[in-house]
Amino acid sequence: MTRRTAPVVLKFGGASLEDPEQVAGDIRQAQRNSTEVVVVASAREGVTDLLSASARHPHSQVQHGRLLDEIRARHPGLPPVGRRHLDRVRRLVEALERSTAPDPALTDRLLSEGERLAVHWLSARLREDGIPAVPVEADHLGLITDNAYGASCILLDRSRAAVRRGLGRILARHDLPVVTGYFGRSLEGRVATLGRGGSDYAAAGIGALLGASRVELVKRHVAVLSADPREVPDARPIPELSYEEAEELAQFGARVLHPLTIEPARAQGIVLRVRSLDDPSVVTTIAPPRAGRRNRALTVLRPLRLLRLRVPGGRQRPGIVAEVSQRLAAAHVNLVQLYTSSALLCLVLEPEQVLPGLRALAPVTREAAAMVDGPYRVALVTAIGDGILGDLHLLPPGTVSEAEGFSATPRALSVAVPESRGTEVLRALHRALVTGAPT
Ligand code: ASP
Ligand code: MG
Repeated sequence: MTRRTAPVVLKFGGASLEDPEQVAGDIRQAQRNSTEVVVVASAREGVTDLLSASARHPHSQVQHGRLLDEIRARHPGLPPVGRRHLDRVRRLVEALERSTAPDPALTDRLLSEGERLAVHWLSARLREDGIPAVPVEADHLGLITDNAYGASCILLDRSRAAVRRGLGRILARHDLPVVTGYFGRSLEGRVATLGRGGSDYAAAGIGALLGASRVELVKRHVAVLSADPREVPDARPIPELSYEEAEELAQFGARVLHPLTIEPARAQGIVLRVRSLDDPSVVTTIAPPRAGRRNRALTVLRPLRLLRLRVPGGRQRPGIVAEVSQRLAAAHVNLVQLYTSSALLCLVLEPEQVLPGLRALAPVTREAAAMVDGPYRVALVTAIGDGILGDLHLLPPGTVSEAEGFSATPRALSVAVPESRGTEVLRALHRALVTGAPT
């Protein structure tokens, strides 16, 4: 690829696609100084929700008629290639109607159509605006993923040559590639989605493959804040995060970023920028940590359930922690959090995983005579920030003493509290660590 500067990847989220002229203006701005630009687009707002609702209710034909009407209405001026994707949506929904068992790969094919429609629609609108946009479907391009349908991971080494070649060819003609986010092609050659919100991750992956200087995640009004403003009204914007802080924030449930987005950027030292299309002053830069910067952000995850496993002989029983986690993993039960003392193992699970979890642990309760109590309804409140352990003395009394569990690493400190106290504890920690913290 011949170029003067490393390219910049601009990812537009569903809501930010509402006004294609504004998107065109934003792209032109980035193209100044002859910077090469690659666009990654999500589906238009609400489209993935519609598609996944019809996959969940494959037999509701009334709903399917409405689905096509609503999707068509969201892509005015769709060119003929794009209209073929509307037909494809209809055929895929019919295939789901006929299927007798859940088919994750077929569902992913249907879900991917939202992004395909978006890139054909957006490219046509950008061309009307004088930008030579070329729609690119990531599976055809050669963005390769593993076979975990619905939550797949990008395989960077397997994707590198094809993605660089395909996008390099378009850039060499001075055209603008507009690539689908959210999905790629699995090792067995089928469509695989990266999980909800996965277009951020796709953009970071493509940025890493191209050696981009920057990946910008353009959202409509969303900012990275010290907490969810619906829970904590005086949450503040965070102008800069380290990769590690951003990763913890995404893992602990901040909805602004897909949890896998950070890793490809960190591995290549690419700066990630989350910014608002409407308000240029709302921007968060995600980059290596900088001395002297103090960030604190709070998240809450709920509803969750806590199970207490009391094992005779406790942790002295060799291999008990490994046995419990292996049994849960084999039953596809995800451990949200694990607290251990010598006599107790406290497991935090999603509510719908409690029954499968108990079933998976039945052999342990039988053989080791372990006793389970719970499930207890809990919320997991997490405080994130480089050096957070230095803030232990700031925690308000009561938050930890009345907690069901507590865990901490140098970057994230979380407490499981009774579900009904989730908001109160979140706000108390926000007051202690963000608004009222000594600076
Ligand atoms: N369209 C997909 C979703 O809504 C991917 C994304 O928006 O990032 O989850
Ligand atoms: Mg979306």
